[in-house]
Amino acid sequence: MTAKLIKGTEIREEILEEVKAEVEQIKEKHGVVPGLVTILVGENPASMSYVTLKIKTAIRLGFNEIQDSQPEDISEADLLALVDKYNKDDSINGILVQLPLPKHIDDKKVLNAIDPDKDVDGFHPVNVGRLMIGGQEVKFAPCTPAGIQEMIVRSGMETSGAECVVVGRSNIVGKPIANMMLQKGDGANATVTVVHTRTKDLEGHCKRADILIVAAGVPGLVKPEWIKPGACVIDVGVNRVGEKISEKTGKKIAILKGDVDFDEAKEIAGSITPVPGGVGPMTVTMLMVNTLKSLKFKLGLM
Ligand code: NAD
Repeated sequence: MTAKLIKGTEIREEILEEVKAEVEQIKEKHGVVPGLVTILVGENPASMSYVTLKIKTAIRLGFNEIQDSQPEDISEADLLALVDKYNKDDSINGILVQLPLPKHIDDKKVLNAIDPDKDVDGFHPVNVGRLMIGGQEVKFAPCTPAGIQEMIVRSGMETSGAECVVVGRSNIVGKPIANMMLQKGDGANATVTVVHTRTKDLEGHCKRADILIVAAGVPGLVKPEWIKPGACVIDVGVNRVGEKISEKTGKKIAILKGDVDFDEAKEIAGSITPVPGGVGPMTVTMLMVNTLKSLKFKLGLM
């Protein structure tokens, strides 16, 4: 059997078209558009290319997009004051501070200074708590886990009562997605197991999974024989395993590999995400969804 491919690149387009249509409707009816500010400190090349992607996407959707670039030597106090300025700015619905920050700045302090109602990344302790409670309490689910759940739902996988095994317990992927899958509600209601570096019998747990979400950052960690036939496999891992010359641009690009042995796994799974082109494109997409949500909360539309 060859698994159905769950392509993030296609799902991204579906979702962005939905967001764009909603932005146009809100603009017509309420005369406002979502406002997103991205604060970038310094000139880290990886951060700059990630921020550029966010800006491009926001502009495509008709958002009010502000890129606020600050010098590497900005003081912590000045950065906190800047966050406060945007907290008070009525035209801004989402504030994003691009990580990593320079060493002299306490990133926790800065992230915690963001108004939780504008924390579209979903990392503020208030939003982590809201996610834990679930249901109507949730404002912003963190973007990568939100993207994973969206992919599972849009692939047509039944989550209710499913055995869901999450490999990895990080605060940005493993823990939040495990929490989301066990909540009451659509796209959830699963029986969830979280496995990690101290787990005994990783293989045995993975073999039980109807839905297997792997976020370990270890290339090829999950072997094909660990996959239950017909399972839905979400490979979050993005691992650089070498370099090659791009056919499109002629430039050197990274060779990326997931945490799952894709070529063999696709012959066993029922559905599977590729790497690249799977979960990757979903993170920025869900950031846009969260920013639109933030405006809708403000307008009383949610
Ligand atoms: P992390 O390093 O913070 O956490 C990895 C987790 O995996 C840890 O909890 C650890 O216990 C577990 N783990 C590691 N090795 C293991 C092993 N051998 N057996 C069992 N468990 C093991 O990483 P993260 O931030 O959660 O990211 C995980 C992967 O997902 C990385 O490859 C990262 O690049 C990728 N990622 C992709 C996206 C995206 O596509 N948008 C977003 C975030 C992370």
